[in-house]
Amino acid sequence: YVSVVLFTADLRLHDHPPLRAALQGGRQVVPLFVHDRGVADAGFAVPNRMAFLADCLRDLDDELRGRGGRLVVRSGDVVEEVCKVAAEADADEVHLAADVSAYAQRRERRLRRALEAEGRRVHFHDTVTTAVAPGTVTPASSDHFAVFTPYFRHWSTQRLRDALGVPRTIRVPEGVGSEELPSRAAVQGVSPGLATGGEREARRRLAAWLRSGADAYEEGRDDLGDDATSRLSPHLHFGTLSPVEVVQRAGVADNPGARAFVRQLAWRDFHRQLLAARPGASTADYRTKRDRWRSERTARADIEAWREGRTGYPVVDAAMRQLRHEGWMHNRGRLLTASFLTKTLYVDWRVGARHFLDLLVDGDVANNQLNWQWVAGTGTDTRPNRVLNPVTQAKRYDPDGAYVRRWVPELRDVRAGAIHEPWKLEGLERATAGDYPDPLITLADGLARFRQARGRE
Ligand code: FAD
Repeated sequence: YVSVVLFTADLRLHDHPPLRAALQGGRQVVPLFVHDRGVADAGFAVPNRMAFLADCLRDLDDELRGRGGRLVVRSGDVVEEVCKVAAEADADEVHLAADVSAYAQRRERRLRRALEAEGRRVHFHDTVTTAVAPGTVTPASSDHFAVFTPYFRHWSTQRLRDALGVPRTIRVPEGVGSEELPSRAAVQGVSPGLATGGEREARRRLAAWLRSGADAYEEGRDDLGDDATSRLSPHLHFGTLSPVEVVQRAGVADNPGARAFVRQLAWRDFHRQLLAARPGASTADYRTKRDRWRSERTARADIEAWREGRTGYPVVDAAMRQLRHEGWMHNRGRLLTASFLTKTLYVDWRVGARHFLDLLVDGDVANNQLNWQWVAGTGTDTRPNRVLNPVTQAKRYDPDGAYVRRWVPELRDVRAGAIHEPWKLEGLERATAGDYPDPLITLADGLARFRQARGRE
């Protein structure tokens, strides 16, 4: 008997329930990845993620070959390709991870219909891309939690399943053709500082983080200059790490740093359970509808300056330039830049979310869209009208200006006490800020516009 395992956002061999189930009873398995035309057509196949994906697929293929198998890669419509491969391999069942976005839910329905019409079984597996499956914990009166704190209380009481080991041998049937694996070097327009993908790199990073990084996480996680977070987000996005395994291994440490880290992992599951229940929230305002944003036409120059890191607010510009250079941004930077776009420039969160998705290596429909909604005050923040002040935030989270100096070289020579407000420099000192631009808008004007717009809603 033969099974097909469709790999999606779970590009690993450790703790992989679909693969484990597919191998049961000594079956042969076709490990399959499809470059899905639907994902590319929706604009999601951007260079940073395609390059990282290429690393992941090569690594997965290597690991499979080490166990007697190989990866089959195809391109096209995912449902058609799965059906074709199942027919070529004469497989009677297909296994894959359950997923949450509107697109993934539609893919599930289409796959089920197409495969069952051919007399094949299809199995969707939970807890592959989340630690706790969406819908496992719910409040009394709804199908999902809309506020994180009570969600986290319930999430924390869940007993996770045991993580699974790696299968020793994988036998792939003859006669199933594969395209060549993609290569990172062939992808154009990749950020120069992009991280390396693949399960081996992910596991190395996780082990190093749990050994020496997590202890200081609670204290340091907001410090922009220290960069003291795990940077595991791309690995969790592509599933080169299993969330169940990461939570379990971090949980064992039981120190405040590990606890704070696990709490952030629960945010991932929180957004997924929300999107699973309300897939429309990837584009539509989730809780509070706001439609007074400045039009993209009126705000075009501001949006452009924000994207390029030329707003005149050093910490905002540093973070936007980090995004472009690394395809990744520190969480505090994401909060600050998103707040600045939506609440100071008063531009629709969807404009910012799109730009992030164009560049982020961890760019993820659930986490990106719902975090943007959280910041914009249309989502799950219980204080939707809070505005982050980029100057006070910068002084708090980048006190010596190390983060700004790293990403905004024009300000390298400005002294620490002035680096977050270069417009205040006077006399000869002004020259130390080079041709760094003046602020697009004063914070007082931004706040006045925000209050006026929100007051009229
Ligand atoms: P750590 O601090 O080490 O956290 C560990 C893991 O917990 C992360 O890897 C991530 O998987 C998860 N996590 C942490 N914070 C959050 C959070 N607020 N929401 C959900 N999961 C979280 N994260 C993404 O993975 N993809 C995105 O597209 C994304 N877009 C964002 C957009 C905005 C506007 C904001 C404010 C946040 C966004 N985040 C996104 C969440 C968060 O910023 C990143 O997960 C984090 O910065 C990744 O760095 P890290 O792995 O070092 O995180």
